[in-house]
Amino acid sequence: MKKAIKTVLVINSGSSSLKYQVFDMVKGERIAKGLVERIGCGGPKDHTAALDQVVADLGELAKGIDAIGHRVLHGAEVFKDSVKATAANMKKLEKLVKFGPLHMPANLGGIKACEKIFKGVPNVAVFDTAFHQTMPDCAAMYAIDPKYYKKMGIRKYGFHGTSHKFITAAAAAFLKKPIDKVNLVTCHMGNGSSLAAVKNGQCVDTTMGLTPLAGMVMGTRCGDIDAAAVLSIMEAEKLTPAEADTLLNKKSGLLALTGSSDCRDIVGKAEKGNKQAELALEMLAYRTALYIGGYNTVIGGADAIIMTGGIGENSSEVRERIINRLGALGIKLDKKANQKRGQVVVLSTKDSKIPVIAIPTNEELAIAQDTVRVLAQ
Ligand code: ADP
Repeated sequence: MKKAIKTVLVINSGSSSLKYQVFDMVKGERIAKGLVERIGCGGPKDHTAALDQVVADLGELAKGIDAIGHRVLHGAEVFKDSVKATAANMKKLEKLVKFGPLHMPANLGGIKACEKIFKGVPNVAVFDTAFHQTMPDCAAMYAIDPKYYKKMGIRKYGFHGTSHKFITAAAAAFLKKPIDKVNLVTCHMGNGSSLAAVKNGQCVDTTMGLTPLAGMVMGTRCGDIDAAAVLSIMEAEKLTPAEADTLLNKKSGLLALTGSSDCRDIVGKAEKGNKQAELALEMLAYRTALYIGGYNTVIGGADAIIMTGGIGENSSEVRERIINRLGALGIKLDKKANQKRGQVVVLSTKDSKIPVIAIPTNEELAIAQDTVRVLAQ
């Protein structure tokens, strides 16, 4: 018989930081959390050294870890679900580094470090892309020569899958519908943002693409843009691909429009009459409403529209701007309910045709739950 898994360590290993949380899965509660920063640049020399620090921070708790779940950016088409990090799977994962040259080495470094330090404790890789692997080709393919898909795997993959999956399950429970019968538009809106179209509990489209750059107007990413505009800028400014990548991923979006990537600052500026801040919020709301309308169509009518992430859970101002654009779907804002933050709340009026519901996400708990599920198989 398999050993019951009680205590799960969740690792989110980035290039220069490592975030962790520990869950008691019997109670479904978080029992520890922390962050190790400046890995390889002033702090611990590598991920193994960073994990040594985690073990020291956890003290006695470190000895009781039954399983470890790792956030992994990209599973491409190889991994359609979370998997145990066996030697064979690690070999396959090494081949996917090209899909996330910044994140994947750190993600895999976290797994390897855990194998060394937590000897005999199973590791599970949980992918940001996996939930979106059910997308049909008509949503996933780009209208370019198919040889780029065949040779290089260029297609839409989508990200934030762990969050979209978590709120899909939470929404189905809230609506008292079986998960395989629930139709949703899920909106994960934080620093990075993406929407997903969920039909019968499965993803059929999402706004991010080959990389997390596509789709929504984000904190520092431009989201959807005419590819020719990028080529023009590269030519005019003589940018290398790496420089263009930095421009579009780190220096665009709300930051470029307003000077701040934080929605709270931008709402504050707009309230004081700043025109750029006002425009940025309207661009954000417009694009969100545009996708909600499109996704409502492709899923054949939503049972609910779900909002989550830092903005979706908390920003009454942004939610109001989005919901005010959904009148054509028979949706009206419940102004009083919209003042509530950080909790499950129906944001639309009772007579709205489709409810809009804020549901807090919990990606770390979702990773811990998936870790337990995969190890029970
Ligand atoms: P990440 O994608 O980095 O996990 P979050 O999900 O934490 O980001 O979201 C960050 C965004 O959420 C920021 O734009 C921030 O302004 C917004 N946000 C967080 N808390 C609040 C709040 N109480 N009111 C309004 N906006 C908020």
